[in-house]
Amino acid sequence: MIALVRIKRNSRIFLSKLKLLTSVSVSTWSPLATAFNTKPGRKLNLSLTKDVAGLFGVPELRSHEGFYAMKERAVWETDKLIAESCSSHRTRKMVEVFDELSDTLCKVADLAEFVRIAHPQAAYCQAAEDACVSISGVVEKLNTHRELYCALRAVVDAGDKFPMSSVDQHVARLFLFDFEQSGIHLSERERKRVVALNDSILHMGQRFIAGAVSPRAISKDSLPSNLRQLALKSSTAETPDMVNEFLEILTQQLQKRAAADFNTMKKMKAAENPGFVEQNLAPWDTPYYTYKVKRDWLQVGNSEFSPYFSLGTCMEGLNNLMNNLYNISLVNDELAPGEAWASDVYKLAVFHEREGLLGHIYCDFYERPGKSNQDCHFTIRGGKELPDGSYQNPVVVLMLNLPTPRWSYPSLLTPGMVDNLFHEMGHAMHSMLARTRYQHITGTRCTTDFAEVPSVLMEYFAADPRVVHTFARHYQTQECMPEDMLVRLCASKHLFAASEMQLQVFYSALDQRYHGSHPLEGSTTDVLAELQKQYYGIPYVPNTAWQLRFSHLVGYGAKYYSYLLSRAVAAWIWQTYFETDPLNSSSGERYRQECLVHGGGKPARELVADFLGREVTPANLANSLISEIDSNNDHINRIRQ
Ligand SMILES: [Zn+2]
Repeated sequence: MIALVRIKRNSRIFLSKLKLLTSVSVSTWSPLATAFNTKPGRKLNLSLTKDVAGLFGVPELRSHEGFYAMKERAVWETDKLIAESCSSHRTRKMVEVFDELSDTLCKVADLAEFVRIAHPQAAYCQAAEDACVSISGVVEKLNTHRELYCALRAVVDAGDKFPMSSVDQHVARLFLFDFEQSGIHLSERERKRVVALNDSILHMGQRFIAGAVSPRAISKDSLPSNLRQLALKSSTAETPDMVNEFLEILTQQLQKRAAADFNTMKKMKAAENPGFVEQNLAPWDTPYYTYKVKRDWLQVGNSEFSPYFSLGTCMEGLNNLMNNLYNISLVNDELAPGEAWASDVYKLAVFHEREGLLGHIYCDFYERPGKSNQDCHFTIRGGKELPDGSYQNPVVVLMLNLPTPRWSYPSLLTPGMVDNLFHEMGHAMHSMLARTRYQHITGTRCTTDFAEVPSVLMEYFAADPRVVHTFARHYQTQECMPEDMLVRLCASKHLFAASEMQLQVFYSALDQRYHGSHPLEGSTTDVLAELQKQYYGIPYVPNTAWQLRFSHLVGYGAKYYSYLLSRAVAAWIWQTYFETDPLNSSSGERYRQECLVHGGGKPARELVADFLGREVTPANLANSLISEIDSNNDHINRIRQ
């Protein structure tokens, strides 16, 4: 019933050594850059408890015990809202009551979920965990509340007694869909079976992920069959057939292009090992030769670039970009004592030139002992219209693992860290720029494959020399990154893109097959070997079974393809609106109004089609990826000449 949205992204590991450069930086940076090039100091609380703001400014959370009060209040409010939904004297739309119900629970659950993961103090983690468990209990109770379900069902089937807009109808259907996930619409016998199956999928998934780090076999008979149809409902792709068609077109188009990549690698391998007869490529050769090409052809090494990417200058770059595209300013805001969970957290206020304050982003950017090493976006409070006509501004946290600044130099980012910062900022801006009536569909609360589009699109900006040029400045001398470095850096991001994409197509096809009809024809390893032959240019290695370690098969469950799909949509948006002028404000404004503003309030496929002015077909999606590969290859070849 409630959407506990957390957009995760695997942090990549970069083995870079930051040069220890000692010098005091010249202070002509903007206030934002200066703030992020300095570690925030601990806020002294001179009056002890009196003026402590409470975590996230929530007064109850001046102490961890506040979670108990928050949970109690949420339970009490939930009961009141259930009674309102089921009452014949209801005075507002059903979907409004449901959204308030969801908001009441999400506000506690999302906050508690974040604190449970991120707070350095055990007492807070424990109280937050207790709150999570209590709220899950409430949700479970709601999921079996027949009267509540029937009240919503009646509104979806026959309309409300108040007029409903298309957004109201869409959101009501989403609530109903969530409700039915736990089988409330089925007979008692079937419902119990759904609950048992969900439970077993959950436990088996947890066992699989735990086992993914050490080799282990599970019987294929114990896997539940045919979950795909449900998983794809309401996504951009919408049906398994459409996903398969998309993958098939890509496979055909990639074959020749990936073969050219492998050929280049093969020649490199032969040159490196002149005496060996066996010169075929193995799967482990591709990362090695990609690294080698980066180093040899493009002379790109991380340590050369990091001094141009201090955190402050990157934040300034993001601010410039937001300013150009959306008339937004990012302002470093004072944190009140007790407002943050750690002393090195920043708080950004997001201001629109005409609309004023849009929301807050807490930036927990630095590595810390015991901190999760995943780069993540957390929604703490979703945006929504309030009954008095005002807007509940969104609050989110961005969590990264950047190197901590030292006395002599700020946090210096590798190019990969810059990509991650832009990516996560894409999620945050989706939350900030959405203006939805309901929190159930706010910002990133949309389908999995659309949720990654705004963040992947930000990676295009981070890979464009015209954008990087606006902010990459040496932290000591403030000199702009030299032109040739810029060009090499941006080109290096596109090396061997065809073979890399072919690998992603293969993973997606495998994920679809494993989650398709059962029994499979042979063991999961047999299926893997067969699909590898069909989809990937490098053969299967006998007696290996890496699928047993591929944890995404559970995390994404039949949706692994969404990585490629969001890339395709982002590439298409980039090519249509930003490729010729990445800082164009009318394109930015249009993108906001037609995509970001809606959050999940409009079906993803319709939203994309309306914005791009073309139908979202598998062929159109695949073409955007292929033409990107071709134009990048041309560009790389020009640089090498
Ligand atoms: Zn993401």
